[in-house]
Order: sequence, then C-alpha cells, then structure tokens
Amino acid sequence: MLDEFDIPRDLVDRRVTRMRVLSPSNLAADFSRALPPGAHIPMLRREVLDSFLRRRAADAGANLVPGLVTSLSLPVGPSDPYLVHYISSDGPSSKSVLEVDAIVGADGANSRVAREVGAGDYTTAIAFQERIRLPDEAMAYYDDLAEMYVGGDVSPDFYGWVFPKCDHVAVGTGTVAAKPEIKKLQSGIRARAGTKIAGGRVIKVEAHPIPEHPRPRRVVGRVALVGDAAGYVTRCSGEGIYFAAKSGRLCGQAMAKEWELTGAVTEAGLRRGYLRQWDDEFLLTFRFLDLLQRVFYGGNTGREALVEMCADEYVQRRTFESYLHKRMVPGEPWGDLGLLWRTAGTMVRCGILGKEVERLRRLELQAQVLPH
Ligand SMILES: Cc1cc2nc3c(=O)[nH]c(=O)nc-3n(C[C@H](O)[C@H](O)[C@H](O)COP(=O)(O)OP(=O)(O)OC[C@H]3O[C@@H](n4cnc5c(N)ncnc54)[C@H](O)[C@@H]3O)c2cc1C
Repeated sequence: MLDEFDIPRDLVDRRVTRMRVLSPSNLAADFSRALPPGAHIPMLRREVLDSFLRRRAADAGANLVPGLVTSLSLPVGPSDPYLVHYISSDGPSSKSVLEVDAIVGADGANSRVAREVGAGDYTTAIAFQERIRLPDEAMAYYDDLAEMYVGGDVSPDFYGWVFPKCDHVAVGTGTVAAKPEIKKLQSGIRARAGTKIAGGRVIKVEAHPIPEHPRPRRVVGRVALVGDAAGYVTRCSGEGIYFAAKSGRLCGQAMAKEWELTGAVTEAGLRRGYLRQWDDEFLLTFRFLDLLQRVFYGGNTGREALVEMCADEYVQRRTFESYLHKRMVPGEPWGDLGLLWRTAGTMVRCGILGKEVERLRRLELQAQVLPH
C-alpha cells in the first residue's frame, strides 16, 4: 500500500515483522517466518494518515470544504446538479450548500450519503479498541510484534488484538453476534494479554461499526460509495484501510476518465468503470475470506485448527503474498494439494470437517426441496 499510494515512510509508526496468533488454549503460532526479506506490516495511526492525504489533495489543487454533510437534494433531470447541504466548520458554523455534478460517498460505515440516496443497509460488527501506554519494558516486547488472539473469551466470531502503535499499543476486539457483550469481550482480551500489558494506562477508547458485506447498491445515479460506506472491509482480517483507498482511487479515476471522454459522469459509466473493475479485482478475495471466517472463527475447535494451520510454512507464504498484494495469489499445484491434505487432517482432528460436510449436505437437501 505504501508504494502504491506514495505514502511517505516517516508516517509509519512501527514496522511489524513478527505476527503471533494465539489459540483458545494459548497455543501460539509465529506467523511471520515466511515474510519476505525486508517486508513488514506497517502500523500507522489513521488520524496521521488522513491529515497527510488531505494536505496532499489540497496541494494537488483540491478545494477542501470542512463541514458536516447533513442532507442531499437529488436531481430531477439527468443533467441537474446534486445539492449537498452541510454545516460549515470553517469559522463560525453555518448552514451552506454546494452544487455538484457527481458525489463520491467516502463517509464511513454510518454514511449519510448512502442513506440519502437509499443505497440500503448492511450488517455491521462493532470494533472496540483501547490505546494503552505501556511501561518501557512492556513496550519493548511489542516493538515489532503484533498479536492476534482467538477464543470465545475474546470474541465469538472475530479475533482480539494487541497491535503496536507509535508510543503505545492498541488492544481491542470485534464482534457481530455479541455486540452488547463488547465490554466483557474487551476484558477478555485484556485478561489474555495479561502481564504483557500490566501497568499500562488507557489514553484513548474507540468504538466503531465495521461493515460485514457490501451495500445492496454502491452506485445510485451519479453517486458512488467507496470504502466503509460501500462495505469494503474483509471478513476474517477486518482490513479496510487499503480497500478504502483503492476503491476511492478506482472510483475517482472512472469519473475523471468518463468526464474527459464525454464531458459528463453517468450511472452507466460508474458501473462500468468502477463497480465492474472492483468486483473483477476483489470479489473473489472477499468471498474467500468470508468463508474462512465462517469455518475457523465459529467455535473453539475451529480456532485451534486455525492456529495449527498458521504454523504451516506454505500457509504463511501464501497468506503474506496475498496480504502484500491484496489479492489471492495463485498457488503452486503440489503445494495446494499438500495444503488441502493437511487442512483436511487438521479439520478432522478438530472435529470440524464432519460438521461442515453435514451442513453442506443439509443445504443441498434444502435446495432440492425448494422450487428454483
Ligand atoms: C477499532 C478499529 C480498528 C481497525 N483496525 C484496522 C486495521 O488494523 N487495519 C485496517 O486496514 N483496517 C482497520 N479498521 C477498519 C478501517 O478503520 C476502516 O475500514 C477504514 O477506516 C475505512 O476508511 P473510510 O475512509 O472508508 O471510512 P472512515 O475511516 O470511517 O472515514 C470516514 C470519514 O468521513 C467523515 N464523515 C462521516 N460522516 C460525515 C458527514 N456527514 N459529513 C462529513 N464528513 C463525514 C468522517 O469524519 C471520517 O473522516 C479498523 C476499524 C476499527 C473501528
């Protein structure tokens, strides 16, 4: 991502080169033996990245209008403008309106733009995170190490994490199924990290929805949604920053290209130039990670199997290649066959495969009974 978006290296707080996954029984798999030489997982703070991107856009000629969008007036005719109503935060706050030809809704999971154009809803997870400043010795332990914890005590359907940031760690968890329990789950991740974060002082608490899947409509008229507003966060890993940046760029490029060629932006052009390209590049990756989450995060046996598989060098190599390139990287036929065999072995040992086969058989029977 850093190279693709020309992000200066000095924005990166920490370079993680060691990734540890811990199972419900605290079996640990060091997940970074296959990290290519020189590669790392960059850790940075969104607030720092955001202000850099904003400044760069302004330097490149964008007109920044700080404010809170409150509503849209939709056009009547195909070439009428959209009216964006907002409360200006530049100077004394006042109601203002902006007339525009097209809109990119990049306003997050609670997107006002999506609501105004009737883009439909999606289910969300909640992510809860505490930024904790640790004593020096404890912080040194997390210098280049990120930890992921799985288990019913930290989340019934996701993972808990301890990620190093500039001078502190982010300790958090997420869930869809047990949102009212989020504080209890947060206590769970703190307990699992235990003495490693002892003596820490909470300096910030954050809680935010995370989309579980794309919205029913991501392009409506000349309005396109990107990032969390569109629903582009991968299941399983909860990664959304790269996909927000990538979708914003694809959408902006599609708009600019159509404008250059025809002097107008249209719904058909956005579907062709943005949506189709997005789905071609990423739909499969998102579906695959969705499947992994369902198989491996659903219960403690699956989580133990996940950690066992994470110790596999081939799994690590494929995962890092896919992580670094943000796409599923084609595998090696013999490697994939071996992995399939080892996965089946792990799943049988952990008692998952039988249940999964039974579930698929039930679905098949239902499909035969239901009219097409
Ligand atoms: C606790 C937590 C930890 C996470 N950790 C990771 C991680 O480690 N790696 C990763 O890749 N992803 C992570 N994610 C997910 C990631 O943060 C999001 O997917 C990403 O921020 C989406 O970017 P976005 O620009 O689409 O939306 P957002 O980051 O939500 O930005 C939306 C912007 O729109 C503005 N806005 C909203 N409404 C209005 C309005 N009405 N008018 C004007 N402006 C408005 C907001 O102020 C904000 O600036 C995490 C999420 C959470 C909650």
